[in-house]
Amino acid sequence: MSLTKEEILQKSEELNVKFIRLQFTDILGITKNVAITIEQLEDALDGEIMFDGSSIEGFTRIQESDMYLKPDYETFTIFPWRPQDDGSVARLICDVYTADGEPFSGGPRNILKKVIEEAEELGYEMFAGPEPEFFLFETDENGEPTTKTNDKGGYFDLSPVDLGHNTRRDISLALDAMGFEVEASHHEVAPGQHEIDFKYADALRTADNIATFKFVTKAIAKDHGLHATFMPKPIFGENGSGMHVNQSLFQDGENAFYDPEDERGLSEIAYYYIGGLLKHAKAIAAITNPTVNSYKRLVPGYEAPVYISWSGANRSALVRIPASRGIGTRVELRNPDPAANPYLAMAVMLKAGLDGIKNKIDPGKEALDNIYDMTASERKDAGIESLPGDLTEAITELQQNEVIKSALGDHTYNHFVKAKTIEWNVYKTQVHQWELDQYLETF
Ligand code: GLU
Ligand code: MG
Ligand code: MG
Repeated sequence: MSLTKEEILQKSEELNVKFIRLQFTDILGITKNVAITIEQLEDALDGEIMFDGSSIEGFTRIQESDMYLKPDYETFTIFPWRPQDDGSVARLICDVYTADGEPFSGGPRNILKKVIEEAEELGYEMFAGPEPEFFLFETDENGEPTTKTNDKGGYFDLSPVDLGHNTRRDISLALDAMGFEVEASHHEVAPGQHEIDFKYADALRTADNIATFKFVTKAIAKDHGLHATFMPKPIFGENGSGMHVNQSLFQDGENAFYDPEDERGLSEIAYYYIGGLLKHAKAIAAITNPTVNSYKRLVPGYEAPVYISWSGANRSALVRIPASRGIGTRVELRNPDPAANPYLAMAVMLKAGLDGIKNKIDPGKEALDNIYDMTASERKDAGIESLPGDLTEAITELQQNEVIKSALGDHTYNHFVKAKTIEWNVYKTQVHQWELDQYLETF
């Protein structure tokens, strides 16, 4: 529920707020803060706080570096884990504006808002429910993260309470105090791996929630002496961390994906939306799986998708249709990982789905067999293609996809491709431990 300016000022006084963090994310989805004191809050609420955008990844050139932060009042909340005795800390998520008073085209939140507007023009509102997974690792004597886990738990394990379990509980409690509705929180398949699912919301709110969730998780893990990581595949041979995104469109208060007359209970709109997701899946991957490491998760054998297909129940498919119908009818896209910028990820998924609807894209036949048991030629006959095998393939797909590019806009597209090309080239020229183990003695 949105507060007015006066209510925020009043609440800040009641809660003894001393500092306010004005938050936004850079192009990579990393949360940035401009910290102000309570005395500046009124100016901040009027959108009068300026900052230098030139040092932010993917932002702008030095000569046009003055930017304004315009807070979204609905995002006002305090940090419940911070000591409150000598003043509490609050935050507001902001939109970035240029000195001319225009929404900045390199601001991920602005980009998502534009695609949301496009959906509204067609009469739709997107809702999304994410399932972020993460690892909790021990830190060493210098406080640096290791890849050692302190628990031996497995999927939905009820083993004696351990440090990871306590940390996850405290993360859930903090999220709860910040107004999240945590729907599920459980241990995942790999040692030290966890998942916390929160209730679905409109696309913008969900992107805000994911960004918030990530820094809250890291802060609370740190208080417990652990390091939380959203790196997609931190350990070879174990499941990686995904961030499945459940998505649906609503029209006039009704779920537009539901049709009780259909054999699967899905509307034409739902099928076209799936068609759009599948058609653009390879280019979307550049945004939803944005790191070199992301593609080490998308391999057979670890419950992560590899092939571009959809299915009602089959968890090997890229798009799965969870069982609930009526208001809960939704599609689950399974390739995104939590390293993605949540705003850009929502923007490209929605854009792809809308393209499917506009162009009535047929999603093709449902994949019934376990695709992983099919041979390459069986997959070819069934018309099942694969997701990009690595970051450079994904970038090439993005470069060839005008629909997804247009969702990002020139500014962000150019910065993103440039940053990711550098990342790939640096990675490609490294000599990795695997190569030394493999070749040093042999040759
Ligand atoms: N960790 C798996 C992945 O990489 C997902 C497991 C699950 O189905 O929740 O996507
Ligand atoms: Mg999971
Ligand atoms: Mg899932």
